[in-house]
Amino acid sequence: MSLRLLPDVLANQIAAGEVVERPAAVVKELVENSIDAGATRIEVLVRDGGRAEITVADNGRGMTAAELELCVERHATSKLADDDLENIRTLGFRGEALPSIAAVARVVIAGRAPGEGDAGEAWQIRVEGGKKFPLEPAARQEGTRVEVRDIFYATPARLKFLKSPRTEQGHILDILRRLAMAYPAIGFSLADGERVILNLPPGGGDLLESRLDRIAAIMGRDFAANALVIDAERDGFSLGGHVGLPTLNGRNAAKQFLFVNGRPVRDKLLFVALRGAYRDVLAADRYPLAALFMGAPFDQVDVNVHPAKTEVRFRDAGLVRGLIVGAVRHALAGAGYRTASRASPFGPGGGGGRRYPSRGLGESTTAYHAPLPGFDAPPATVAAETICEDYSEYPLGVARAQLHETYIVAETADGIVIVDQHAAHERLVHERIKESLARGGVARQGLLIPEVVELDAAAAAGLCARAAELEELGLALEPFGPGAVVVREAPALLGEADIQGLVRDLADDLAELGGAVALKESLGRVCATMACHGSVRAGRRLNGAEMNALLREMEQTPLAGQCSHGRPTYVELKLADIEKLFGRR
Ligand code: ADP
Ligand code: MG
Repeated sequence: MSLRLLPDVLANQIAAGEVVERPAAVVKELVENSIDAGATRIEVLVRDGGRAEITVADNGRGMTAAELELCVERHATSKLADDDLENIRTLGFRGEALPSIAAVARVVIAGRAPGEGDAGEAWQIRVEGGKKFPLEPAARQEGTRVEVRDIFYATPARLKFLKSPRTEQGHILDILRRLAMAYPAIGFSLADGERVILNLPPGGGDLLESRLDRIAAIMGRDFAANALVIDAERDGFSLGGHVGLPTLNGRNAAKQFLFVNGRPVRDKLLFVALRGAYRDVLAADRYPLAALFMGAPFDQVDVNVHPAKTEVRFRDAGLVRGLIVGAVRHALAGAGYRTASRASPFGPGGGGGRRYPSRGLGESTTAYHAPLPGFDAPPATVAAETICEDYSEYPLGVARAQLHETYIVAETADGIVIVDQHAAHERLVHERIKESLARGGVARQGLLIPEVVELDAAAAAGLCARAAELEELGLALEPFGPGAVVVREAPALLGEADIQGLVRDLADDLAELGGAVALKESLGRVCATMACHGSVRAGRRLNGAEMNALLREMEQTPLAGQCSHGRPTYVELKLADIEKLFGRR
């Protein structure tokens, strides 16, 4: 073996492996070039899901003959004007896309010289599998047109990994939607052969108006009508856009559109922060809908993390996370979530009914079957009604049923009690943590297998900085490499807790709290987070013994009638009230 420089074609094919993993990536690179060229109208045509052809035509500034010659060369770019990677204002900057695409497909690029009006001469260049042909005159009248045929014909191994045309077309549509949302003033269209799949006219009016129109066109009128406006700023960062009410949620992150400086990103830090913001109001397996636009000082964000440019790195990840969590929670609180309750129709003593915004839209819940911890429950085989028939002794009665894996229905001497099991447990956890703290610390339980939780570096550092405080609260963790922590012990009273979720959410809490506040001072928040990941959360099926143990525990706990957010944990209906409802009195 001898050391040598790779021939250009090979180097480009290797680069193509990262830049153009599939037809949608080609669409992304070409459309980004059109946006960078100042186009106001971008037309995309694909055939066979992009496998046979991808053509992108724009009305941007165009290219001269010399630029056409150069643009397919490796690392040729007109965009890094001052060679300044710290100050990237265009979508492209690596000068890799066109040569990479041309190395694996048959490409024709036609352009008209910029600034010469319709009289300007047009040229085209052809490159096939990295082989360049001489310039030819072209008929193209405006902007630039890039035609890509037979993608991966030059790299058959890659070709095998293409999915069905339908799947590839889905990816293309997704990419185009994301770019279209970021640039509402630009008109976009997508056709597959004869069939028009997307047609978005250029938006007029100011940015916010045209953006909302674009969002509605892409996410549906439903979202636009049920979304909360986000508008926040912190230390030179801005965050705008819209997030959905919790009742509008999805099974995955497909309807989360996140942008940093006009660039669509799929960044873990941002996704996790968004989820953290909804933690109190949305089940763990549901995803909020969002279109969020972050403006970051150019020197605070690095977009040069991966050739596909969909990941970013922030200098201060904690600040970014705090901005998102804070702004979204603020909007949700303004809309009445987290504290939402309405007056009980049953008068005093009844308490307010708790609104459960998270349980909309046919949400599925997971049942956990871990034993209920901390309660001295009789053997689980004892049926609820045989434990104590003499319910007159118990203010909260005897559990008769569990409904929707969320509510315990109990019979009292003169009425019915409905308990929100999750809210009640949250309250109990809060009270017991307070009690234990007063006695010197919360009992910890060693995990059989220490659990490693992957976070970003800032979140991990934030947690580790508070390790001593967290340990007092029952959670023992240590750093585990730059972006992870390992948890060795958890609060015993949580039972079989979801450690991953707990640690991530605590990291969000810490980011939101900032450095100054002692954890004990925001105990309510921390306890709520803990209870959320303990074993009695909503959606867990409880047996009779567990339900009754929970009721008895509530009776012994001061303030058990309210969860930490001030919502009632149970509602009582007197028989007299029920009779009134039926017109019997
Ligand atoms: P990058 O976008 O990173 O600069 P590309 O390989 O995607 O690299 O493009 C190389 C260059 O070709 C661009 O810098 C630009 O000057 C030119 N170019 C590409 N597409 C267009 C277009 N649609 N209109 C005008 N110029 C373009
Ligand atoms: Mg480019």
